[in-house]
Amino acid sequence: MKDKLIIADGMNKSYRIGRGKLHHAVRDVSFEIYRGETLALVGESGCGKSTLAKLIMRLIEADSGEIYFDGNKISALSEKDFRPYRRRMQMVFQDPASSLNPRMKIKDIIAEPVRTWHLYESKGEVEERVKELLDMVELKESALERFPNQFSGGQKQRIAIARAIALSPELLVCDESVSALDVSVQAQILNLLKRLKKELGLSCLFISHDLSVVNFIADRVCVMRDGGICEEGNTADIYAAPKHEYTKYLLSSIPQIPQY
Ligand code: ADP
Ligand code: MG
Repeated sequence: MKDKLIIADGMNKSYRIGRGKLHHAVRDVSFEIYRGETLALVGESGCGKSTLAKLIMRLIEADSGEIYFDGNKISALSEKDFRPYRRRMQMVFQDPASSLNPRMKIKDIIAEPVRTWHLYESKGEVEERVKELLDMVELKESALERFPNQFSGGQKQRIAIARAIALSPELLVCDESVSALDVSVQAQILNLLKRLKKELGLSCLFISHDLSVVNFIADRVCVMRDGGICEEGNTADIYAAPKHEYTKYLLSSIPQIPQY
């Protein structure tokens, strides 16, 4: 039996939408992420994927439900006690242009988390780590002195990934991380994520509305609809024989499955 890195149990989150009305964005969601696996959350826009990701990362607080990280109940921890866990889970967002500070050099963007957490004693060690990270995301050392707007969308996403893995997290949460990229660039970033997952033993929560992307990258899939999970299973099984009507509908609406 493989280790469970994340257990989410009965998560609920509502948003107040004026006049005392509530919108139930995540309803009674439970799932697990095993160590070393990529679990995808797939579903149409607005079904609650990003809300669920933020709940897991404790960027927002749940109305109810428990989250366990590596066997520890993190949902009830104070901000101070939760802090060591922040380092162990990192996020890559959809739009690298807005997630990277345009006024910072690449070397400083990637070094920032390393400096914040005081991981190394000397400046030289930080520099070495930054170079190592650049190499891991297949960027040249000449990138160090440049600024984000000197890079393409795909390259910017590589920089965001380098920053996300700088602290050697165990969980990487990718929220629509390739959705803003051209299909050919998507494939390169997906291959990079696959390689890093393998080399670093990362677990990944991969969020996408795009079923072909999910088919390429995920070991298991949770299909979300209206804030809940309607079907869950191994990617190959679900794509070969979807059980739920909604999954069938989603799969039938893929215009054409690109071969990455
Ligand atoms: P997804 O990522 O699947 O597109 P989200 O989790 O962003 O979906 O949103 C789920 C639902 O919750 C949507 O109906 C959205 O409008 C609503 N929602 C998300 N964030 C907020 C918020 N801060 N305040 C009010 N409603 C929100
Ligand atoms: Mg979203």
